[in-house]
Amino acid sequence: KRQLIRWSVTRGMGSQVQYRPIRSVLVANRGEIAIRVFRACTELGIKSVAIYSEQDKMQMFRQKADEAYLVGKGLPPVQAYLNINEIIRVALENGVDAIHPGYGFLSERSDFAQAVIDAGIRFIGPSPYVVQAMGDKVAARNAAIESGVPIVPGTPGPVTTTEEAEAFCLKHGLPVIFKAAYGGGGRGMRVVRKKEEVKEAFERASSEAAAAFGNGAMFIEKFVERPRHIEVQLLGDKAGNVVHLYERDCSVQRRHQKVVEMAPAPHLDDKVRQAMLDNAVKLAKHVGYSNAGTVEFLVDQEGNFYFIEVNARLQVEHTVTEEVTGIDLVQSQIKIAEGMTLPELHLTQDKITKNGFAIQCRVTTEDPAKNFQPDTGRIEVFRTGEGMGIRLDSAAAFPGAVISPYYDSLLVKVISHASDLHSSCAKLARALREFRVRGVKTNIPFLLNVLEDQKFISGSVDTYFIDENPQLFS
Ligand code: ADP
Repeated sequence: KRQLIRWSVTRGMGSQVQYRPIRSVLVANRGEIAIRVFRACTELGIKSVAIYSEQDKMQMFRQKADEAYLVGKGLPPVQAYLNINEIIRVALENGVDAIHPGYGFLSERSDFAQAVIDAGIRFIGPSPYVVQAMGDKVAARNAAIESGVPIVPGTPGPVTTTEEAEAFCLKHGLPVIFKAAYGGGGRGMRVVRKKEEVKEAFERASSEAAAAFGNGAMFIEKFVERPRHIEVQLLGDKAGNVVHLYERDCSVQRRHQKVVEMAPAPHLDDKVRQAMLDNAVKLAKHVGYSNAGTVEFLVDQEGNFYFIEVNARLQVEHTVTEEVTGIDLVQSQIKIAEGMTLPELHLTQDKITKNGFAIQCRVTTEDPAKNFQPDTGRIEVFRTGEGMGIRLDSAAAFPGAVISPYYDSLLVKVISHASDLHSSCAKLARALREFRVRGVKTNIPFLLNVLEDQKFISGSVDTYFIDENPQLFS
């Protein structure tokens, strides 16, 4: 059923790729990432087009585009950005050449990618087929197996009954992790350590997945103890070339969600690093991957690494890779969508080098003192930290801006770039200390605790770090 034969069709297109310039890009997204893409467009001399929901009428991001159109009139806030037909209609009416999906919303929906292409518009991302296959975590695991990339032992397909779940646990031993086949963003996962918990955990995880992702299909993996989360950034072109842009370490997580990300991964054995980079490229070539993407791995304490998933889109943490490689990933995405090949973009593997150390933290309007409950309201004071080696990718916060409860609570991504981990930490902490935000609570006190933690600074944290250090919350 999950035959992957069609991938061969997308592979090896050789020199058939046609170059067609893109003159305008609509970003099917909002906030920080919309602005990130508009900026890349402007620098390339491309017209940028925003869409915005009624709830986002007063948000600054729409003013950062050359044109902006209201979508989803009368729809709930999130639905406005998920309304495929209307987004495509707006694009067609305004002569848009290409659509960038950003991250979240429609970015991993193959039906969206397909609808964009069917409308004669270019989709700035991989082919719909690849988006579909990578979005299904079970199919992605099978692709990894096919291409010889190591994966965590797990069920070969979705598991629907408690009996099947119990059988897996009996065979492979505990702990295990239940995962929603269509999950994402750290949701739909449950770790099970005790035999007597299997039944209830499975049932709850499955019904949660059905509610959250519209599909209760689960699969089960062995739980890797004390892993680091290390991911490889890739770029592929439409001619079948794939390169890596090294790795990022995203081990600092809260509830399986990334909080602080960095590049490169500190204290990683060079052989392990190279093997992961090679494996990521191998997988991408196998599936005919084009445009930007990320292959995620877990690395255990012994240096064994296991594939977990592919994100067939730009990621929130792409910035740290840009800082250390000097390569603009969004501009590269657009040029690849125009039909340029990696050699034409001077992006052959030997030309991609890394320099220094970058760290990103996500400043959110969440209150660490109240269990990270999102805070809303009017920003009264907003002053940022700046200076050498500091990059701010913000959702255009300003004094007077109103933070609504409708969307995610990302306020600004603060990225530092310095020669090594230690100085990059010091720089980022210094910049965060310069911030003055009043009117809404932010997670800055928590981020400072992380950046000034000795274990963090020494570069020896794994995914247990936040859970094991409750003092970070105070
Ligand atoms: P999502 O798509 O929701 O981000 P992932 O599969 O990428 O889910 O996993 C997110 C995080 O959950 C990982 O970075 C890791 O911390 C944890 N995790 C996932 N699978 C495992 C596993 N098999 N063993 C240990 N931790 C895991």
